[in-house]
Amino acid sequence: MVFRVSVVDFEGDYAVSVARALQMVDWRPEVGASYLVKPNMLNSKTAQEGVTSDPGMVGALVRLLREKSCRTFVGDSPGNAYPGKARSVFKSTGMMDAVLDSGGEFVDFEEQPPVIVDVGGILVHSVPFSRHVLENRIINVPKLKTHIQTVMTGAVKNLAFGCIQGASKSKLHSIGNTPEKMAKAITDVYAYLRSKVEVNLMDAIVCMDGNGPSYGKPRVLSKILASKDALALDIVAFSMAGVDPSSVPYVREGMERGLGPSSVDEIEILGDPLPNCKFRLPSTFVASLSLKFAPWLSPFGPRVSIDKKLCTRCGECAGICPENAIVIRNYPEIETSKCIRCYACYEVCEFNAVKVRKLAILL
Ligand code: SF4
Ligand code: SF4
Repeated sequence: MVFRVSVVDFEGDYAVSVARALQMVDWRPEVGASYLVKPNMLNSKTAQEGVTSDPGMVGALVRLLREKSCRTFVGDSPGNAYPGKARSVFKSTGMMDAVLDSGGEFVDFEEQPPVIVDVGGILVHSVPFSRHVLENRIINVPKLKTHIQTVMTGAVKNLAFGCIQGASKSKLHSIGNTPEKMAKAITDVYAYLRSKVEVNLMDAIVCMDGNGPSYGKPRVLSKILASKDALALDIVAFSMAGVDPSSVPYVREGMERGLGPSSVDEIEILGDPLPNCKFRLPSTFVASLSLKFAPWLSPFGPRVSIDKKLCTRCGECAGICPENAIVIRNYPEIETSKCIRCYACYEVCEFNAVKVRKLAILL
């Protein structure tokens, strides 16, 4: 089987670029169907900061669906989500205006009880999904970024984490307490969701390198990518970022389980040329050499600490910690003996107050 991935140079017109990317992979909406558009809405940092999906892209996609009389929901479950958090994140990033102005309907995954599903995975079984995830066809709108725990994040991880309701996501951090186990956990959830996804549309306009998914540096590539297969899309996108896709544990796991292409040779790349670039990796991986050591990085990876000068004492880090290793006294305090180095606290803090040291053995 040949998997197709389209690559489009974004030159300022969202409607033209989104339509072109989707047409090249031969995807069009079914008239009158109901869709859930699932962007990556980690926190209140914007698309231009390289963190959340581009509202212009989502708005253009919603318009395209509405032109075909499709009911179009747009929702996500940001890190450590509780009722009201997604609404606040959508508003502060400009996503809410983009959704409503284009005729879409915002949905807060946390406002209704989840549907518990046994995904029958290797490590993961019972998963609380938002009912919107299960009741609609999914259009996945990930962001291309580095990730301090998984090296890179794109289409597969945006589905696996963002469709799980509320703070239950932290259980995945607990189960996946090494990069290899995390790869298995992500792939377990993705294997269940894969058939529900019609198409994936990746925001690679302003990406992130370094310490993603939230603390890294914005990296402008000005590309939009599309594919009906999330794993194929990640393989092409990570290659475009100068990262060997098979060195990303969850990509390797997906390839080995046959959940997409087993190599880049099975992918037909259409459209504009791929740029030749090299993303800086997260400090937990430091150099491509360190990817070989990924299986044992956690729980021996770099420690986390709190910068009190930046901390607002919001409590989000304590809320997401799967091991209850963070206690908020005057400021958050980390019980090192309980910490599994999952870096969920680092990911969720939008004030850059959680610090991760570099991997000392490789410096
Ligand atoms: S470290 Fe960050 S997430 Fe934790 S309380 Fe301080 S500001 Fe909030
Ligand atoms: S303190 Fe941070 S890195 Fe350690 S287990 Fe908790 S969330 Fe994970």
